[in-house]
Amino acid sequence: MSTLKFAVLPGDGIGPEVMEVALNVLSTIAAKENMQLDYKTADVGGIAIDNHGSALPDSTLEVCKTADAILFGSVGGPKWENLPPKEQPERAALLPLRKAFSLFANIRPGLLYAELAEASPLKTERIPNGIDIVCIRELTGGIYFGQPKETKDLEGDDILAIDTMIYKKSEIERIADVAIATAKSRGKRLCSVDKANVLETSVLWRQTVTERVAAKAPELELTHMYVDNAAMQLARDPNQFDVLFTENMFGDILSDEMAVICGSLGMLASASLGAGKNSLGKPFGLYEPAGGTAPDIAGKILANPCAQVLSAALMLRYSFGLEEAATAIEKAVETAVKGGTRTSDIAFGSEVASTKDMELAILASL
Ligand code: NAD
Repeated sequence: MSTLKFAVLPGDGIGPEVMEVALNVLSTIAAKENMQLDYKTADVGGIAIDNHGSALPDSTLEVCKTADAILFGSVGGPKWENLPPKEQPERAALLPLRKAFSLFANIRPGLLYAELAEASPLKTERIPNGIDIVCIRELTGGIYFGQPKETKDLEGDDILAIDTMIYKKSEIERIADVAIATAKSRGKRLCSVDKANVLETSVLWRQTVTERVAAKAPELELTHMYVDNAAMQLARDPNQFDVLFTENMFGDILSDEMAVICGSLGMLASASLGAGKNSLGKPFGLYEPAGGTAPDIAGKILANPCAQVLSAALMLRYSFGLEEAATAIEKAVETAVKGGTRTSDIAFGSEVASTKDMELAILASL
């Protein structure tokens, strides 16, 4: 019997509500597949500030360090939004976690079932078959972290602000490898996004990606696209892409654009993979929904748990190598939603299901 050892950090707002559903789904699949769940729950975000005085207490970090993966809810909310920026739950919890585990690869499936096409601002005519793409974003390099990064007073009363965009070839190679593996497991088309007509880092990015694909996966169809065009093409015809992949800042923007065209945040999962391996020799990863704590619906049992459940499926796939169990969960969510169980974010006038109704429908499909 295999044991799945992971940390559970539900966080704030709807986090604990949707996490409960994900854990029930995991328990069901574990019972079916003869696996044992060994998870520890710890405070993170606003609740951790309240209980321990820090958004990421040492005790929580310890729980994560002894696990093979982290299943994360979401953090933040009105109660903590007047804290200084550095102490805000999102910044004080997620950024240190990314740093502690060198989470360099963010994988976001952009999935919209044809039945939910109405949820997308693109509407059904443009996406009659829904959307099925993946966006991969480099998460630890580029302009958000490059030094120098400062603001200084100049002579007179002028002010100078500097951000520095830096990429090493080795950083590009490791994210390219994640993109190559993802494209190989899907439609075998990889689009690398850069701004090689203007940026030195992009020239190195394009050259490195071209070399890496030629050496490791010449069977893939590799294309390159400037980021301004990619933003336009994503809104015009998202399904022209299979796997889109890019550096940190471009990925920040494009992955949010992708979330919007996919309709509800309640359906979108994500995985952030680390440089290190877990005790099973698989990538350590943090798995979380794309959305936040949804304070407007928190406590009302209205949240859509699908994004959290699908994040748990990604955890099984990447950090535990359990492809069949991951696919079974994904199919169960698909069957539940296509069968007509719809939380308020995807209901469009049909009967509104509660978080619990959605859980029961997913469990029934499993
Ligand atoms: P949000 O994603 O929480 O909510 C935006 C809208 O989407 C809301 O109308 C909300 O009801 C809806 N929504 C989100 N998830 C949903 C779900 N599962 N089911 C149904 N509807 C859902 O974004 P926001 O309102 O900008 O932020 C609220 C708080 O969450 C803030 O404190 C913010 O800092 C935090 N936040 C945290 C994370 C994270 O933990 N990774 C990410 C984004 C925002």
